[in-house]
Amino acid sequence: MTNASSERPREVFLFSYLWDIVDEGPDRFAQRLVEQLGVTGVALAVAYHDGRFLLPHHSRRRMYMLEPHVTYFPNDLSLYADTPLKPTPWSELGDGPDNAFAQTKAALDRAGLELQSWTVYCYNERLGTAHPEYAVENAWGSRYTFGLCPAQEAVRGYARALTEDVCRATEASSLWLESLDYRDFDYCGSESIVKITADLDPLQRQLASLCFCPACLQVAAQAGVDGEGVRVTARETFDRFLRSPEPSETPVAERLADWPAVAAYIAARDVQVAALHQEVTTIAARHGARCFPDVAGMLSQNPPSAAAVSSEAAALRAAHPDLLPCAMLRPESKDGRSPGYWSDVTRYYVEANVPLYFIYNYGLVEDSILDAIGAVLTGRNL
Ligand SMILES: [Zn+2]
Repeated sequence: MTNASSERPREVFLFSYLWDIVDEGPDRFAQRLVEQLGVTGVALAVAYHDGRFLLPHHSRRRMYMLEPHVTYFPNDLSLYADTPLKPTPWSELGDGPDNAFAQTKAALDRAGLELQSWTVYCYNERLGTAHPEYAVENAWGSRYTFGLCPAQEAVRGYARALTEDVCRATEASSLWLESLDYRDFDYCGSESIVKITADLDPLQRQLASLCFCPACLQVAAQAGVDGEGVRVTARETFDRFLRSPEPSETPVAERLADWPAVAAYIAARDVQVAALHQEVTTIAARHGARCFPDVAGMLSQNPPSAAAVSSEAAALRAAHPDLLPCAMLRPESKDGRSPGYWSDVTRYYVEANVPLYFIYNYGLVEDSILDAIGAVLTGRNL
């Protein structure tokens, strides 16, 4: 039987950060990717969030506190004229034609590597703190300043402008879209310390994550949902579970049948998030850029065998012929932290003819594991 996807060239993207590439030297980095790692493209963070990262092979940074919520390419602020939300570039980017992004893009082009611009949208504590009126407002009126609310026109304008900016400036052939939606209440920034002593029910987590800002209430009203009533229900139900937990194995989406107004409120916000997503992908498409992960069907991580991968990929192709079966190689689990383990896992995907790979992430994974994956992908160790 012809397997169409096995005939297309294998695509392998490596998630990467500019601070690692600058450290390595863009040309040396690109050469290593092509020759030793079998990579065909770089998913480069161009608009990113905050964090505290361990960088195992950086020459001078080991425990690295990120400059929070900055962009890693020169921004065209004229594109953001219609929104009060503006990007802030990385302080180490540099000016002029030799800025760190431009040097990197030139090196990737010379090596024949595709650029995928990894873009973070609503998770932006810098903008949410500066403009709390556009941040998510919970049922009790507190603002989750780490999360911009995608129902707000200012945020939607920012998302459109950022997409246009990224597409024009980076000339990426694809984008990886991240957090173009609502974040959960505990998806907090690095400066936040969460103190919750109760074991929260998944339903409580959902209720605590809902946004009741004016824009969200308007979205609900347009869908015929009483948003203020849902806010009261959210508070009362949260407290009821706090007083007397009702453990349940049923998924939250099914349990919401008992709270139809809450379910309708969530459905209305999902519709407007999907519309924003469509706007962004349309802008990208105008620049000839595909949007990930939309076009990828993620296979299970850490598979036990090539046969297991083949079977899952076949099921995926049958159910979603438009999606590319995709392997996410993400060495981070405690029990799979050896080069031999990742060599085996990569081989299972390759033997199953998986056409698309993402490796997460250049700067976060030890050299020995990267090399083990690369040895399989380049055919040195099959
Ligand atoms: Zn909102």
